[in-house]
Amino acid sequence: MSVRTESTTATESEYEHYEAIVVGCGPGGAAAAARLADHGVETLVLERGTEAGSKNVSGGLVYAEESAAYTADDLFDGFREAASERPVTEYTIHNIAGNRVKSYDLTDLHEHDTDWCDAVLRREMDSWLETRVHEKTSETGGGVLTDVRVNGLLRENSDGRVTRPSDRASGQSPRADGEIVGVTCDELEPITADVIVAADGVNSELARDAGLMNWDEPNEWFQGVKAVVDMDPDAIDNRFGIDADEGAAHLFSGDLFSDVRGGGFLYTNEDSLSIGTVFHLDSLVEEQAEPHELLDALLTHPLLAQWLGDEYHEREYAAKLVPDSKKVAHREPYRDRLVLVGDAAGQMQAQGPIIKGMNHAITAGALAADAFVVTRGNSHPEAAGRRYTQMLEKSGTMDKLRPRRYELSRTVGERDAVASAVDRVLESPVGSLAVGNPIAKRLMKRAYNSPFLVSMLPDTNTGYVTLPTVIAEEHGRTIRWDNGVEPPTLEERIGDLTYDTDVGNPHIELLDESAAASGAAVSACPVSAQDFGAGCYRAETVQTNGTAETLISLDTQPCIECGTCAVVADTDWEHPRGGKGVEYREG
Ligand SMILES: Cc1cc2nc3c(=O)[nH]c(=O)nc-3n(C[C@H](O)[C@H](O)[C@H](O)COP(=O)(O)OP(=O)(O)OC[C@H]3O[C@@H](n4cnc5c(N)ncnc54)[C@H](O)[C@@H]3O)c2cc1C
Ligand code: SF4
Repeated sequence: MSVRTESTTATESEYEHYEAIVVGCGPGGAAAAARLADHGVETLVLERGTEAGSKNVSGGLVYAEESAAYTADDLFDGFREAASERPVTEYTIHNIAGNRVKSYDLTDLHEHDTDWCDAVLRREMDSWLETRVHEKTSETGGGVLTDVRVNGLLRENSDGRVTRPSDRASGQSPRADGEIVGVTCDELEPITADVIVAADGVNSELARDAGLMNWDEPNEWFQGVKAVVDMDPDAIDNRFGIDADEGAAHLFSGDLFSDVRGGGFLYTNEDSLSIGTVFHLDSLVEEQAEPHELLDALLTHPLLAQWLGDEYHEREYAAKLVPDSKKVAHREPYRDRLVLVGDAAGQMQAQGPIIKGMNHAITAGALAADAFVVTRGNSHPEAAGRRYTQMLEKSGTMDKLRPRRYELSRTVGERDAVASAVDRVLESPVGSLAVGNPIAKRLMKRAYNSPFLVSMLPDTNTGYVTLPTVIAEEHGRTIRWDNGVEPPTLEERIGDLTYDTDVGNPHIELLDESAAASGAAVSACPVSAQDFGAGCYRAETVQTNGTAETLISLDTQPCIECGTCAVVADTDWEHPRGGKGVEYREG
């Protein structure tokens, strides 16, 4: 991320001040702002999209957990009627080996600790939330400002001078530039606040600026890619065997994604389907897999013919990085007056067939607001952050995000030698015998529905690829349906997206063009591919002094702001200016 080195001799009192600033109006920011406003706190929300949701992507199922401190409908009356698509009433996982498929009902697992669960599309959901948040925050002297990108933190030195935005020399302590007192924006003068809620999502520039989050290790992230597919509501009801007020969730794992660790999903909306994939980023990089091809492998599998029919119209292609809370959920997500919520704090739970990020962002946003309110009279800059951390623990949220069982199981289960030994046994005749017998068949279904086992599943190929493949081979039926879907090409997908490109002002700079440093982005970028000349990243072999060298180049125009190359390439990465870049209509 780039940090500019401007500093002024201004003092904090010279800037516009709010009691609370919330950066980002996704579910985490909306929840924080609504709760702050409900407490009468003067709250300003800054959102970089032209409208909330125009930058956001999700699968997406919003869960209301029975045990959660806050849910979407606790904070927003009428949420389910106005902002969501269909309630999910049935869940199925499909284990796939070639054309053989063994499906298990997963309803017990998904309904565990669940009050309700709805499919949503982010543009519609987030823009509805934005309107509600604007109504609430306007009453307390604040409001929502869109098209504003926050680009850094405002800090106050011990002598009372304010630095904007902070600029730390490498290796310097994040505290060295002084106490965080506000934010700086591309479009507005700096603003100070008593509390700053960073709800700016997975590529949080504020978390990074505060020294609270790195984007360095691919094994700490997932990449999600998604297509929204047009479908008449009656066709959805007929093909999925559901009523108009019901919805279905289908999940996919096995060998249809080759050896890439992760899986696929299909959710029914009112008049569309959300179909996508979520993969461990390190696995995508290791396998040099092309994300759009993995999505196409799902779309064109014979199993999907029954739902997709003959006419396939893709409304939108989208992608985004998501954090793996098991590894990166921040245990102390605050610094000075800054608190992190949602993806910015790494609070995205993905365990086996469960993906829960939006609900945790909502809970965390509301808890952060409560923490500020109960510590309002306390002059210590970290009072709210400390209380928020305690609330995350006490409410059980932290244990869901970083289950202790997983910490234990990964120490053994994720060792390469152990993982490959387990895979070898499973793939051998002994494994087939063990999985193939009738008792194992019954146990397997129980195991898939056990929240206890799912929460301790190690992140290895065994759970995502090897075991599902053996299950399908041993117990599956052969699917012979013809799937005539011809997914759009990458060029067509990019061409169908809406961009407001910031011409001459690229938001990502490639720092090292060698293949060793940045080559992984060519295949891992969801709008690039080997041998595709019109994507963001390209590899080219050049002759230098008689030796051939592969060099990487970057053109940010087709960028969909997923964040992948911030992790897998050597870049100077930031979001585009407010309102610029890609605009999702569905999300
Ligand atoms: C393919 C895919 C499938 C998923 N499936 C599910 C699912 O089924 N269920 C689930 O619960 N979760 C799912 N997730 C994860 C979920 O989308 C995230 O966990 C959730 O959106 C996090 O919410 P948030 O409010 O923290 O961040 P976001 O939703 O990312 O919102 C961040 C907001 O901040 C704004 N912003 C960012 N930077 C700035 C800035 N500098 N200045 C101003 N504004 C800024 C953005 O425009 C955005 O509106 C999925 C994700 C993907 C990619
Ligand atoms: S250029 Fe980077 S941020 Fe943009 S779509 Fe490609 S990987 Fe994602």
